[in-house]
Amino acid sequence: MQQFSVLNLPVHIHSNYLNWLEQRLQQQQGTHVVTLNAEMAMQSRQNTELADVVGQAELVVPDGAGVVLFLRSQGQSVDRCPGIELAESIVQSSAQNQWQVFLIGGAEGVTETVAQKWQQKFENLAIAGTHHGYFDPSGEQWLCEQLQATQPHLILVGLGVPRQELWIKQHRHLCPQSVWIGVGGSFDIWAG
Ligand code: UDP
Repeated sequence: MQQFSVLNLPVHIHSNYLNWLEQRLQQQQGTHVVTLNAEMAMQSRQNTELADVVGQAELVVPDGAGVVLFLRSQGQSVDRCPGIELAESIVQSSAQNQWQVFLIGGAEGVTETVAQKWQQKFENLAIAGTHHGYFDPSGEQWLCEQLQATQPHLILVGLGVPRQELWIKQHRHLCPQSVWIGVGGSFDIWAG
């Protein structure tokens, strides 16, 4: 995959991110997906830990318009890949391929609402579990045990930037074959 640099962070350019992710899921190749926008790029300048995580992610997509404009100004022909759309597309694919999905983040009840809506929208969608994003250490321990026990194929994490990126980096060893995507505040939007 082609890789460019925005403020020293990688951005991967592909004509079909969904297809690429489907292959990662099929081959059970652990993947961290970062959806990069200008705000995250600016934060990374001050937060070296965040910069390191983005630098190590297997897929960094150009989510924000600012990132795309910057790359175009460098002569690259690049289109935006909105993270919220990519995440929902891969959930739809998961329903078709019987890949299990785990949803983490948002206020209490939000991921449960999203799970219900998606199970109506996407036939046969298997939800391995849901959890809100305001856990204390014992809640986090319980969540980690659930992840380890269920080994979901796809894990969406909406804890906001940079917490979700750092959390994924810290916990991805629990499910080394999963695709993990930081989805920011998307659960609030999907819940409606
Ligand atoms: N959130 C969470 N746990 C926290 C802090 C935030 O689950 O400790 C959730 C919050 O409920 C919201 C999302 O993370 O759903 C952050 O949304 P925002 O639009 O601020 O995301 P960003 O701009 O960082 O993508």
